[in-house]
Amino acid sequence: MTAEQPIVVTGATGFIAKHVIGAFLKRGYAVRGTVRRVDRADAVRSALARLGCDPSKLSFAVADLAGDAGWDEAVRDAKIVVHTASPFPIAQPSDPDEVIRPARDGTLRVLKAATGANVKRVVLTSSAVAIFYGSGLPAGHIYSETDFTDETRADLTPYIKSKTIAEKAAWQFAKTTAGAPELTVINPAFVQGPALDADLSTSHELYRLMARGVYPAAPRIRFPVVDVRDVAQAHVEAAVRPEAAGKRYLVGEGQLRLFELGQILARELPDLRSKVPKFELPDVAVRMLALFDNRMRTILPELGQQKDYINARIRGDLGLQLRGADEAATAAVRSLRDLRLI
Ligand code: NDP
Repeated sequence: MTAEQPIVVTGATGFIAKHVIGAFLKRGYAVRGTVRRVDRADAVRSALARLGCDPSKLSFAVADLAGDAGWDEAVRDAKIVVHTASPFPIAQPSDPDEVIRPARDGTLRVLKAATGANVKRVVLTSSAVAIFYGSGLPAGHIYSETDFTDETRADLTPYIKSKTIAEKAAWQFAKTTAGAPELTVINPAFVQGPALDADLSTSHELYRLMARGVYPAAPRIRFPVVDVRDVAQAHVEAAVRPEAAGKRYLVGEGQLRLFELGQILARELPDLRSKVPKFELPDVAVRMLALFDNRMRTILPELGQQKDYINARIRGDLGLQLRGADEAATAAVRSLRDLRLI
């Protein structure tokens, strides 16, 4: 790869994508980010300047996951494409196809364009949710990169289905298409760490809701967590290390309960102590509430789930030391206060 050949990062306006772009720029690579609307480019440049990057090596292309237009131009002359773009809504749509179509069809559009442009490797941002919801697993199962979510399970949210279906479609494409690029997949846990601007991801919207007192009590759910700065480094290493070809990487470090997120918020910003969840709801209460409340119904599959996992591959292959869950959540909360968003 020559210094002029840009790394293409799709969905450049995204929370994770901005950190990924920053990590590549800091290593001296030129980056071409894709946006749906060209007028979003300046905001991305400003966010990267805040991260201490020189945005002069950053250019933009316009393309939407919902259509073919722009993708061939977006990946032209690139050897590496990092595909982060995908809908990540905080509220689940009533029509699952609203998120499944852009996730799956958009991923295939990117892969087709990359194949046509003779791209060497595509790094796909999937999710840990494409790992943690298998069927027929024994109690106490320890999850790893060998696990795949069963997207036919009736209790999954449209978002979980969208990420699983898109990742499986990508592996199928890589296996069956002549001349397809190498595929490497990053499966991040729930991403914490610093927000760079007010264009918040679902990761940070949760804190905004808590800071408004929307959750007087928290259901007893816990989830694997990771810091966005480590997710960004994982994408860079996955792009450049030969041994990452054809592999997926579960990127997470520890777990946090929803209640604990509130406690970290209150610890860092004591003025919000009265707003965060005061106690944990017993599972039976959540099941009762779910009879009437859609949001509660969405989290029923999470009740009692352990989701213990191994992150050895990311440490071994990619040589990463990950920040702890508390540090990641603390950085998220502090960034939101610095940006005056909570
Ligand atoms: P954001 O919502 O911040 O970013 C989503 C990005 O996808 C935005 O750039 C958005 O563009 C783009 N996008 C959405 N729909 C389309 C479309 N139809 N065409 C083109 N671009 C589109 O979320 P995150 O940064 O948090 O997430 C980025 C990726 O990481 C996603 O694939 C998500 O599933 C995955 N992920 C996130 C986790 C997290 O906890 N945050 C955990 C695991 C995986 P626009 O700004 O125009 O809407």
